[in-house]
Amino acid sequence: MQVVKPLFEARALRQKLSGTVGFVPTMGYLHEGHLALVKQARIENSAVIVSIYVNPTQFGPREDFGAYPRDLNRDLELLKGGGVDIVFVPSDDEMYPPEFSSWVDVEKVTERLEGAARPGHFRGVATVVAKLFNIVQPSRAYFGQKDAQQVMVIKRMVADLNMGIEIVVVPTLRESDGLAMSSRNIYLSPKERQAAMILFKALTLARQLRRGGEKDAEEIRRQMTALIQKEPLAQIDYVSIADAEALEELSSIDRPAVASLAVRIGKTRLIDNMPLE
Ligand code: AMP
Repeated sequence: MQVVKPLFEARALRQKLSGTVGFVPTMGYLHEGHLALVKQARIENSAVIVSIYVNPTQFGPREDFGAYPRDLNRDLELLKGGGVDIVFVPSDDEMYPPEFSSWVDVEKVTERLEGAARPGHFRGVATVVAKLFNIVQPSRAYFGQKDAQQVMVIKRMVADLNMGIEIVVVPTLRESDGLAMSSRNIYLSPKERQAAMILFKALTLARQLRRGGEKDAEEIRRQMTALIQKEPLAQIDYVSIADAEALEELSSIDRPAVASLAVRIGKTRLIDNMPLE
């Protein structure tokens, strides 16, 4: 496993690889969810590249860019033995030099949910992923279902800009009580960690209602909202029952749908989702 920082070195090492290259972009502070992406990439490709980069342009001015957890040595320990060929750790100086002025703006699918709650977030995500794709030139790239809207944005970008990279989606890894693994879970106090279970509970309720034959999306949103409101530490950002293809809010569930939500537990904003079919 070679760890490289300078961009020219990452490019040079990539050029020496033959066969298919699987790429896993991350912001570090790795957990089992990230490692599941790496495992899948390892199975499906001749070589695996992981990037670790906390991308400043996807954080809003009042978000947690400064506080976002970082521990490169811990990350490298976790990746050891996982069959990773290259770990690319770019610097802000090289990714965003002062003259930087080109952005990737994916329209429509970015207007709702996370895009509405975090203006500019997906512009930062699409731009950094496009840059990383250009440097790494992967055959396949691996993303988590945990960030369902992000997957849609990346798929749209790859198709629209003819990038010719296969996007592979890996199911969400959860803690034993259902909480989706996230680097941000480290922010939670023990009390908040307990309260954070409410996201999974609300999604499970949505799935149960749907399985019980409920077609009225507003009724499901209403019951999810009522459940979350019973948790004193939780504050809802949004609760959504949307079409799984375009993420448009549904009134009647007449096609594959996904329940998703963003909830603040204390100061920590958590997101999660669950397909309803
Ligand atoms: P991040 O480091 O949070 O930007 O995440 C890097 C990649 O890991 C993204 O594609 C995420 O969707 C994915 N990921 C994060 N958490 C999980 C999880 N609990 N299960 C599966 N994939 C995840």
